[in-house]
Amino acid sequence: MSVAARLSALIEAEGLISVARFMAEANAYYYATRDPLGAGGDFITAPEVSQMFGELIGLALAHMMAETGQSADYVELGPGRGTLAADALRALGRAGFAPKVHFVETSPRLWAVQAERVPDATWHEAVSTLPDDRPLLVVANEFFDALPLSQSIDGVERQVRIEEGRFVADPIPQGARVTERCVAAEAIVADLARRLARQGGALVVIDYGYSGPASADTLQALRAHEFVDPFVDPGEADLTGHVDFTALAAAAENVEGVEVVGPVAQGDWLVALGIDMREDQLGRANPARRADLAAQKMRLIHPDQMGSLFKVLGISGRGWPSVPGLG
Ligand code: SAH
Repeated sequence: MSVAARLSALIEAEGLISVARFMAEANAYYYATRDPLGAGGDFITAPEVSQMFGELIGLALAHMMAETGQSADYVELGPGRGTLAADALRALGRAGFAPKVHFVETSPRLWAVQAERVPDATWHEAVSTLPDDRPLLVVANEFFDALPLSQSIDGVERQVRIEEGRFVADPIPQGARVTERCVAAEAIVADLARRLARQGGALVVIDYGYSGPASADTLQALRAHEFVDPFVDPGEADLTGHVDFTALAAAAENVEGVEVVGPVAQGDWLVALGIDMREDQLGRANPARRADLAAQKMRLIHPDQMGSLFKVLGISGRGWPSVPGLG
């Protein structure tokens, strides 16, 4: 059954469904049926822009293991094409670390793509099956924005119904107060924070978003690199919402034994981790790449590009140092 038919059946049975339910169904189908990343897809992400992104993350994780003298498994939430993991693991390898790898991913289509890049990973459909007996270093880039978002308008949950054969969400009257909440994201952060407190390790969240309280409609849909109406053609565009970093930090801070740092702008973080030095090294090794490397760096760090809308939050478990570059 197509996702539109499924959503129609649900709405017929119940009269209406929440924006969160609509987004969950639409995105599950969307990710299960394609590799959405890159020039020929719907959107592009930092690891697909430049190898420097994953390499600097790998070095930051290596630094944390060196500082504690403990090893940890590498975990990635929603690893996309596996590019970030491959780049991070290469940098970790050069620093002398070869962690076991766990991918939390629901899309069978993307399992196959990830297996080409990182063949010996272990796949999980949810964080609940991750190992519970060792430290975990968890990375999530553009993962939380894809999880179902609830919206309310003046305190009433926003719903989707069918009108004249089309999906229509409750309109947002001018001057109305829109609030958003991503219960699934808060639950995953709280679950991981409890593990980090018990097992050790850290979680690094990188995503576009804001420090709350929220007061705007941030739901958006991208198709072939253009914004489209989120309620037209469900399952054919990537639905996302901006991440409320204040809400995620609060979910972790409720857990005893973890330390939360940030959020810090992605541009400032990458500069603190040494992106200028890495650009220079790669440019020396291959001078023909210099102009490309400079353009990639600008795309990642410039405030008008990904440098300030994207933010980084670090959560460290008991006995583990803060995530580097956020202090
Ligand atoms: N981190 C990658 C990909 C971001 S796209 C990058 O930066 O390029 C979002 C990723 O999250 C995809 O891999 C998608 O399949 C996965 N995903 C979306 N919803 C998910 C869910 N509920 N559980 C697990 N993975 C999910």
